[in-house]
Amino acid sequence: MIKAFAVGTARALALAATVTWAFACAPPATEPADTIFVGQFLTLAPEHPTASALAVRGGRILAVGTDAELAGHVGPATTRVAVPGVALPGLADAHVHALGLGAQLEMLDLRGLAKAEILSRVEALARESAPGEWIQGRGWDQGFWTPAEFPTAAELDRAAPNHPVILTRIDGHSVWVNSSALRKAGVTRATRDPEGGRFLRLPDGTPSGTVVDNAVDLVTAAVPTPTPAQNERRLKAALQQYVRWGLTSVHDAGVGLETIGIYKALLARGELPLRVYVMASGTGATAEHYLTAGPERLGDGRLVVRSFKVLLDGALGSRGAQLLAPYSDAPDQSGLMLMQDEDLRQLVSRAAARGFQVNAHAIGDRAIRRALDAFESLGPSLADRRFRIEHVSIVHDDDLPRLATLGVIASMQPNFVGEYSRWAVDRVGAARIRTVYRTADLLESGAIVAAGTDYPAADSGDPIVTLFSMVTRKGADGAPEGGWYPDQMVSVSDTLRAMTWAPAYAAFEEQERGALTPGRLADFTAVSGDPTTTAPDHLRSLRTRMTVVGGRVVFRR
Ligand SMILES: [Zn+2]
Repeated sequence: MIKAFAVGTARALALAATVTWAFACAPPATEPADTIFVGQFLTLAPEHPTASALAVRGGRILAVGTDAELAGHVGPATTRVAVPGVALPGLADAHVHALGLGAQLEMLDLRGLAKAEILSRVEALARESAPGEWIQGRGWDQGFWTPAEFPTAAELDRAAPNHPVILTRIDGHSVWVNSSALRKAGVTRATRDPEGGRFLRLPDGTPSGTVVDNAVDLVTAAVPTPTPAQNERRLKAALQQYVRWGLTSVHDAGVGLETIGIYKALLARGELPLRVYVMASGTGATAEHYLTAGPERLGDGRLVVRSFKVLLDGALGSRGAQLLAPYSDAPDQSGLMLMQDEDLRQLVSRAAARGFQVNAHAIGDRAIRRALDAFESLGPSLADRRFRIEHVSIVHDDDLPRLATLGVIASMQPNFVGEYSRWAVDRVGAARIRTVYRTADLLESGAIVAAGTDYPAADSGDPIVTLFSMVTRKGADGAPEGGWYPDQMVSVSDTLRAMTWAPAYAAFEEQERGALTPGRLADFTAVSGDPTTTAPDHLRSLRTRMTVVGGRVVFRR
């Protein structure tokens, strides 16, 4: 597999050499294109930043230029497609949860809702469901409520006394359940908190109905597991949603063997509409399988498994993020350790030896330091391995330069600023708040920042929101006014790079995608206006008009 990657890179470099030649000399073309796309293209290639036509053959870009310049590529079978709006290199999301999105599409969507509204939706669904059937929802955030307190089982019991209810918080790191769900899970006052998890409790010790991090598994174990057919249906629904959003590739974070199997089946049937870079689960049977079998690159790179995702800590909202100093609003807590250092080091060394990248979820400053320390233990060979930290939410000043120095990629979710603007200062206090979501600081330090959403564990999965949030430091809802810590705003061009080239680099595919140049894959996204000339506050109103993957139109509005 390693050899295959090297060959791929060599070919890409050879193609890249052709690029300059084609631009410089515009030689008489001989190869007919399958398709000539005409419209307005921003190539993000410095040597040829704009174009009005793009010739595609065999899923790759044959030539870029004007309609007249590409006339020589028109053969008898060449089709011509008009591209609406402005086309950019294919937008990527460097951190998604595809199955989570598919499940979310079938669940109550609770994002941005007041508690009373959530309870009335649960009540309405309970009326339509057979008693005993599970009611599931996702996306609540107590940050929207007054008072902003964690909810209780008793509140849900009134809305749905005869159905077990499980509602996942927006960050995916805690759930709100009712008494019926706790009973089905066998959780009582006597149930102890598991390592790395917690049941919030009433004064008498009874679990109150909010369940955090590793304790969540004790409750979800009681929810009937979806069948493989249900999972396939959900995955397909998620993939369709991605292309509607304009995504041409996603990095699916923390995927098990069963889901990888579904991806392979979809690929074999020609039903994978975009490229998927899999971060396989870095623990358990999935990790053991891949540490033996080695990386996989299938369908000319449409489906790639060559990285492991591990969780070092929890999330900031539920105080699971592991901090160097205690929480400002809970001085007896410093967060949760979801993986021990020794286990992490072992995985890092085994993964590296087998040609895998390691992508560590780390949100708190302590977890980020632990990730950097563990990665650094590999020595000088680390730089070429493109290891990643996922989320990178709180970076201590001492650790800020280390990402660039060590060649560790910051995989960040700009839309998090919306959520963080609502409550992060409560968690970390005024002194530490400037170390939260320092996108501009990281770019300035020389680190590579790859943008994504973490959806559905975030306010939005729409890349237009990512663009808007990274540039304006406002959330999906446009708040707060003026942007949250506006000194961390990033330019549109750096943002587009973080959404195209950087995720490609973070997947070892920057020679294949991330810019519109001859030889690269014909992946592009047309949006309703030119982001480089749109006023920052209006970026949010851009809409996806067309998504093209490998020269094929997979979505058109
Ligand atoms: Zn995630």
